[in-house]
Amino acid sequence: MTTTCPGCGLELAAGTQGYERKFNASAECWAVFEEVLAKEFQSAALFGQVHQLTVDAFAVQHAGGRHPDKSVCIHLVGLHLNCGHPRFDPKYDDHPRERGWSSWTDDRD
Ligand SMILES: [Zn+2]
Repeated sequence: MTTTCPGCGLELAAGTQGYERKFNASAECWAVFEEVLAKEFQSAALFGQVHQLTVDAFAVQHAGGRHPDKSVCIHLVGLHLNCGHPRFDPKYDDHPRERGWSSWTDDRD
């Protein structure tokens, strides 16, 4: 028997774990996400380079259901900043969450 993730459509063999988190994901998809996070947590360099992008991408792929719209919006902004906003360079660890969102929005013209 397989399950289909309601957020991203990933089909995997049905497991026995439950899923109680806010993302609109299957337990099986969440388990894969946790494997990715586990790899990131094993390397400070990898974590620093990709973690925010990993979380933002997973969150946006799993909109709907119990996942609050404001969370999806925040993660969409994170993706935008990671994928080409000229004022954001990940090598400086300058994510707006680190500086506070208001300081980022206040000085934009
Ligand atoms: Zn999924």
